[in-house]
Amino acid sequence: MQSITILGATGSIGTQTLDVVRANPDRYRAACLTTNRNIELLADQIAEFHPDLVVVREVRAAEELRRRNPGDVEILVGDEGLLRAATYPDVEVVMSAMVGFAGLVPTIAAIRAGKRIALANKETLVVAGELINCLLKDLGGSLIPVDSEHSAIFQCLAGESPSEIERIILTASGGPFRELPAEEFARITPERALKHPNWSMGPKITIDSATLMNKGLEVIEARWLFDTLPGQLSVVVHPQSIIHSMVEFIDGSVKAQLGLPDMRLPIQYALAYPERIANAHPRLSLSALGTLTFFEPDTGRFPALRLAYEALERMGTAPAILNAANEVAVAAFLDGTITFTDIPRLIERALAEIPVRDAPTLDDILEADTTTRRTVRSYTGC
Ligand code: NAD
Ligand code: MG
Repeated sequence: MQSITILGATGSIGTQTLDVVRANPDRYRAACLTTNRNIELLADQIAEFHPDLVVVREVRAAEELRRRNPGDVEILVGDEGLLRAATYPDVEVVMSAMVGFAGLVPTIAAIRAGKRIALANKETLVVAGELINCLLKDLGGSLIPVDSEHSAIFQCLAGESPSEIERIILTASGGPFRELPAEEFARITPERALKHPNWSMGPKITIDSATLMNKGLEVIEARWLFDTLPGQLSVVVHPQSIIHSMVEFIDGSVKAQLGLPDMRLPIQYALAYPERIANAHPRLSLSALGTLTFFEPDTGRFPALRLAYEALERMGTAPAILNAANEVAVAAFLDGTITFTDIPRLIERALAEIPVRDAPTLDDILEADTTTRRTVRSYTGC
């Protein structure tokens, strides 16, 4: 029986992780669950999964949860609570599934405590990939990707030598605006951008998928997960989201991982690795699908992808600046403060104006994040 902490248990990845726990009660136990403020759902999760510890962001939410749950679950608050959940003694695996930069510090704490990491929170590797890799190396830790593309690459690399990789090919659905003419982009509303054609995800990653920043973040994530050079990372648009990504080797052979778009598969793969668990999910029928198509990404209409490559080439704190600028811009777009086309514009300005620090420490990364948030908020006047 494996005990799991789920950081971000009430989100899209968190609830699907609990689906996997529910389907495998003899293998997994949800020991610690955390949420930002969704105490209604957390209360249901406590009733069903009987965790030892739950964590909420604010004291008031904790008090409300205590009123609803007179049981014996421990309820903690804020950063201290997150660190306790990330390092909880009985826990072997930490599912890092909070959204955004907020996931970084608890994920580092979990690595330091010797936990195996199932990583959905890609922002952690985007902002601090080098630091995380050093920590994992020093401590002999392991981190298994949950992002579907990276899970696909990880599966393609099983039994292969990293030195024989020629190229990694990340697939991208292209999002809801793949075919929208450039002149209509400024009029895209949050409601339209929140409708992803293939995946049901949290709001931040759904907007990232619509701008293609999600693919940019994933390119940076892949750089650190698979220790490749930026020039070895390419992106192809594949609207059906059936091929989850590919690896080309030095002999020209290409391996791909395919499956229906369902995050429960990479989640359960990360939890069970190196084993596979049987499940009753619907199966892929290629003949029923008929056609798979592929296109070059258009960085003219989707400049966020180009900006991510530029931040990766620049390195240092540039990816942290890219990420923080994107988080602020996406929140402002969802608030209705800025337009869709302002998102990459603000990120580009932040990357041009905010000084980059090389070989950053964790403090440098935290500072780059804070400075960028303040600067980009000043651009938007919020
Ligand atoms: P979500 O918005 O649905 O859920 C986020 C979770 O984190 C929630 O439980 C929320 O309460 C919690 N949270 C948010 N801000 C917090 C804060 N400041 N402090 C503490 N808790 C906080 O997001 P999601 O779609 O599940 O995505 C989670 C992560 O997984 C992201 O990094 C995303 O890029 C990555 N990811 C998601 C998917 C997907 O299909 N949803 C796929 C690949 C990768
Ligand atoms: Mg992905």
